[in-house]
Amino acid sequence: AQTKPRKPDWLRVKLPVGKEYAKVRQLVDTYKLHTICESGNCPNMGECWGAGTATFMILGNVCTRSCSFCAVATGRPNEYDLDEPRRVAEAIQLMGVKHAVITSVNRDELKDRGASVWHETVVQIKNLSPETTIETLIPDVKANWEALDVMISAGQEVVSHNMETVRNLYRQVRPQAKYDRSLEQIKRTKEYGKRTKSGIMLGLGETKEQVYEAMDDLAANGLDILTLGQYLQPTKMHIEVAEFIHPDLFAHYREEGLNRGLKYVESGPLVRSSYHAERHVHV
Ligand code: SF4
Ligand code: SF4
Repeated sequence: AQTKPRKPDWLRVKLPVGKEYAKVRQLVDTYKLHTICESGNCPNMGECWGAGTATFMILGNVCTRSCSFCAVATGRPNEYDLDEPRRVAEAIQLMGVKHAVITSVNRDELKDRGASVWHETVVQIKNLSPETTIETLIPDVKANWEALDVMISAGQEVVSHNMETVRNLYRQVRPQAKYDRSLEQIKRTKEYGKRTKSGIMLGLGETKEQVYEAMDDLAANGLDILTLGQYLQPTKMHIEVAEFIHPDLFAHYREEGLNRGLKYVESGPLVRSSYHAERHVHV
């Protein structure tokens, strides 16, 4: 039988400690907020929370989808919390975040895909913290383009939508999504006039050619910023890591992406779509 690859040294991370970390912890708890940092078992929590930043996840913490890499709970969400935008905005104000990243679960059962709560959240953050720039990492609207317009028209600086993997692995990795539909969502976001961003996880068994194909597709559909990071298995129930990609190959992919017409590529083992997000505002 094939032996499982062992976790290499370059994936070792700092432990979460310190004053800033404790402050973020306390605000997240007091305001009853969800973060993808926690829900996704992100390895960068020590670094990001330690620097006073986090990525809030809105529209509850139960997702209608069941992507095979994702640690967020799947089910029938019952939370539709109209007070959430206010709490997110206040927490961000108290944290003094210069650049905020907001994401959400998928709410396929909602007619507007949660777009009104998305819009309201961005508006309220901007009201309380006019200097704060915002990235919204939005879900697949399932071709509800009106919902997309509502989601992206609240004045945020960056709109991201993660492809997550290459075309050939969609059925395995994002069973409820479609590669071409996600590409179209990015294209429409660009046409709307927004700075566009997407992310792909590596180490799921994709070939180099498939990664290049994804880069070409993204460049052709108006993508500005791409993040590439190592997939890590959150629990034994999730899809296994096929390969730990060497940092040199990440560096190579960065060059490839730039050569293929992307404006900015953040590529490295610990890169997540919300990692170093403040660098992407002015791309
Ligand atoms: Fe949270 Fe993103 Fe930082 Fe991970 S990289 S800890 S998800 S802000
Ligand atoms: Fe996780 Fe997003 Fe997939 Fe839901 S849609 S399971 S939150 S990756």
